Amino acid sequence: MTDPAKLISTPELAARAMATVRKWQADTRVDQACPICSAPGLRIVDKSSRPHMSWYEFTCQACGLDEALAVASSAHTTDHDS
Ligand SMILES: [Zn+2]
Repeated sequence: MTDPAKLISTPELAARAMATVRKWQADTRVDQACPICSAPGLRIVDKSSRPHMSWYEFTCQACGLDEALAVASSAHTTDHDS
């Protein structure tokens, strides 16, 4: 099984994509830059369907990025200050 065009292929790029999602979550109306090619106009779609996992689909016309990234939402729950 080969994955022909995986652009988010390293942990570093995945981390970059994640950081982009966080910024996008802060204000979804703001254009984000592509984590792969840094071109503006990245499209992010929240495809989350399960309670403990979120999926974000990235689409970039500049470099042809069209990939979904799974994000565990548990990172959230460890973050309280009591
Ligand atoms: Zn791109």
